[in-house]
Amino acid sequence: MSKRLILATRNAHKIRELGTILSAAGLAFDLVGADAYPEVPDVKETGTTFAENALLKARTLAQATGVPAIADDSGLCVDILGGAPGIFSARWSGRHGDDKANLDLLLAQLADIEHPHRTAHFACAAALALPDGTERVVEGRLPGILRHEPSGTGGFGYDPILQPDGDTRTCAELSPEEKNAISHRGQAFRALAPVIRELLG
Ligand code: IMP
Repeated sequence: MSKRLILATRNAHKIRELGTILSAAGLAFDLVGADAYPEVPDVKETGTTFAENALLKARTLAQATGVPAIADDSGLCVDILGGAPGIFSARWSGRHGDDKANLDLLLAQLADIEHPHRTAHFACAAALALPDGTERVVEGRLPGILRHEPSGTGGFGYDPILQPDGDTRTCAELSPEEKNAISHRGQAFRALAPVIRELLG
């Protein structure tokens, strides 16, 4: 029977994405989401960096369940805003998870800023925590420029305004496969595969 690994998310899409990456790396795990452990409460994201928040979530699950756990934390970092919204990306407008309000507020804040000062990147930290206290964290980035208007219907969050470097489309105009191949989360998950092999393979 394959070993169990928890991904600290309730998002089935993220579980599939990590599952595909682990299989491609030849790693066979019984990957489950946080829903498999409903008795473990969600963690407050009290860290000040993506890495701290990812570690907090992975550590809490691993300690509470005795099963190795992975967590990710991500967001959009805008250079002219000194890296904001950053860890506040999901609640930039004050309402957690209101993607449209968050995006509209950011566009309004940047209305007078022109190219080449509209550079930004998506960032993702992915952490692995073992019940014995061993911890590792890796990061991925997707750099690009911010459009003045949203474009595209795919993806979520700030996808309609980030145009990845080297492309003429926004992230919301890419297919899910194209986005996964270059995304901050895809990079972080792929960087975690050799770490998982080293510690758990
Ligand atoms: P989470 O860490 O996956 O919960 O993401 C936090 C927030 O960052 C999301 O609510 C989005 O606003 C933003 N974000 C993270 N990754 C992406 C992405 O790939 N596209 C668009 N927005 C993202």
